[in-house]
Amino acid sequence: MAECALCGSKNANRKTEIDGVVLDVCNNCVKFGKEIAIVRKGNISRNINRSFEIEDVVEDLPQIIRKQREKMGLKQEELAQKIGIKHNLIKRIEEGWYPDNSIIEKLEKFFKIKLKRSIEE
Ligand SMILES: [Zn+2]
Repeated sequence: MAECALCGSKNANRKTEIDGVVLDVCNNCVKFGKEIAIVRKGNISRNINRSFEIEDVVEDLPQIIRKQREKMGLKQEELAQKIGIKHNLIKRIEEGWYPDNSIIEKLEKFFKIKLKRSIEE
């Protein structure tokens, strides 16, 4: 795990953007910048201690969001507005950016679909 660029803690599991520079930071320091991404790739989480309940985002999230959005005839900005997030986030999600849980949950609620999966073999 990387070191937090701001406080030096060992738990830099978030990324934030400050003045255009992307930094690895910890949960406490993420608020000092603009959080940009938590990239989750399906197989990474499998290494995490199995005793935790692990949920992960479906791997084809970008395609699913685009398909659902187009099915409803919404522009990216219109969808963002409807679920109350910044308009460029939908664009970034469709380009392959994995948003945090709160946005995933808004999308799930809006489209009435499941975007998270439990990792079970
Ligand atoms: Zn920190």
